Amino acid sequence: MTDTLRSRFHRLQDRMSVAQQMGLVMALVSLAGISALAVLSAGLSRSEMIRRITTDISLSAKMVATQLDDEMFERYGDIRQLATMAPLQSLWTDDPAAVRAALDDMRADLPIYAWIGFANVDGTVVAATGGLLEGASVVERPWYSAGLKGPFVGDVHEAVLLAKHLGPSRSGEPHRFVDIAFPVYSADNRLLGVLGAHLSFEWVETLRRGALQGSNEKEIWVLNRDGAVLLGPKLEQPALSAPRVAEMQAQGSGAFQEGAGRQDMLTGFAVVDGRGGYPALNWIVVSQQDASVAFALPTRVGATILVIGGCVMVVSVLLTVWISRRISRPLSALTRVADEIGRNPQVTMLPRLRGSLEVIQVSGSLRALLRRLGSAELRFVEHAQRYEQDMADLRRLADSDPLTGLMNRRSFLSVAETALQGTRSSDRLGILMGDIDHFKLVNDTYGHPAGDEVIRYIGNTISATLRAKDRVARFGGEEFVVLLLDVTESEMMMLAERVRAAIAERPVTFEGRDIAVTMSFGAALARDGDRDVDAVIERADFALYEAKTSGRNKVTSASHLSRVA
Ligand code: GH3
Ligand code: MG
Ligand code: MG
Repeated sequence: MTDTLRSRFHRLQDRMSVAQQMGLVMALVSLAGISALAVLSAGLSRSEMIRRITTDISLSAKMVATQLDDEMFERYGDIRQLATMAPLQSLWTDDPAAVRAALDDMRADLPIYAWIGFANVDGTVVAATGGLLEGASVVERPWYSAGLKGPFVGDVHEAVLLAKHLGPSRSGEPHRFVDIAFPVYSADNRLLGVLGAHLSFEWVETLRRGALQGSNEKEIWVLNRDGAVLLGPKLEQPALSAPRVAEMQAQGSGAFQEGAGRQDMLTGFAVVDGRGGYPALNWIVVSQQDASVAFALPTRVGATILVIGGCVMVVSVLLTVWISRRISRPLSALTRVADEIGRNPQVTMLPRLRGSLEVIQVSGSLRALLRRLGSAELRFVEHAQRYEQDMADLRRLADSDPLTGLMNRRSFLSVAETALQGTRSSDRLGILMGDIDHFKLVNDTYGHPAGDEVIRYIGNTISATLRAKDRVARFGGEEFVVLLLDVTESEMMMLAERVRAAIAERPVTFEGRDIAVTMSFGAALARDGDRDVDAVIERADFALYEAKTSGRNKVTSASHLSRVA
């Protein structure tokens, strides 16, 4: 399995250029690296931004809750201070006008108070801001009954008795109040009645709008402790389950993401839990935003990082391919030129290439290799030439007679045999056999070197006297043989006679002494029945024998001899 995989991989590798391989590897490496990096950084920055956005939304709820807390704490303080103020203790029941004046003063400074009034122990309003409801009974009002027992903060409710006195609210909505009530005691600690204040709930709306300023993506609601909406856009009220509300109450503040209808909403919340120690109403401020809108930026940032990563990857792959092309270009050039060597005679050397250390080394080594090959080839050619020369010399030595330079017996026989096979019956082939007369005497008289000189001289004379196409050989000792081509009997005899005469005519000069020599010849023409040239040579030899025995220095033809005719 791994073997087939490996061989497949090698086959693939062999089909790809260095540039392609490097490009592919780079693409894979950068794909892995950059995508890991991009996914990691996109994920990290996205989660960090989500954390910040989540913190932000819970902070915006927290801000409103803190403001509500502060306001409630201060108003609670106002009413407590008023209810326990010593100078007022004697006035509560005795001087309603003075009390009304004090209450009016307070309302003038803080318009949040819709109404402040004091009801006596019978539940009848004695003094109130603007004189409203004075004389009316508030026995049935929860703030009164609770206020008789101790400090009280009452949750939002619509105006019951005051509605018709206050006129329409600024928002057009029914008047809604938050009640604060304190029991009022005389200096001798007698219960005199209840001081109650109705805080207009509109200030909460003002706070809410203030917190929403600059953000049209967020929405803020104020819920009561059970999760019912007190304030905020009615149409898109947050759908919060009872357990969720309980959880928010327990947690105090935070954020969560939850599907509401079709949208996924990011919700921040903070409980108005009575900072500073007043009986808080545990309202919940909820700040909500469409999660897809809230997280659009992190998602966009993540996508941008991925796109940039992709671009970097593409650029790095292109750069790699370009660089590896540049690196491999000299190698391709080297291959092209190397291919020409041995084919194109003009190309004998590789160019000196550059581009990288390896290319310089490879081209340098190949150039050195070619130089070594060149000198080796030169040496080889020299050796071959010398060998051929030696062979030619050897062949010549083998074929020639060392003393005269003429053919020797062996080469003569081969030449003569070939000639005999090639002749037609009309073009006769003749053989002359010659032997120097009384040569032993020459040696004896003049010395062996003189004899050699005579042999050489005679060889030269025979060659010089004959026609160019005739061939002369030294058969051994002082014997010569001549091959005459295309001759008749008479032509043969004439040529032999000419040679004999040329030798007899001139003495050989050796070391200043003339040596007169003669030579006898036997001549024979080839006949149709001759099996080989030896037959002809044999007849010529016989004729030579005749020439010797019949007086020497003469030419005898085999055709005149009855024995061989
Ligand atoms: P004939 O007229 O009957 O031929 O008498 P001849 O003396 O020439 O014949 P013979 O065969 O008795 O002598 C040949 C001599 O040639 C014998 C030998 O010493 C001599 N000889 C053979 N080869 C050479 C050679 O290469 N150099 C020299 N100097 N002498 C040679
Ligand atoms: Mg002889
Ligand atoms: Mg002789």
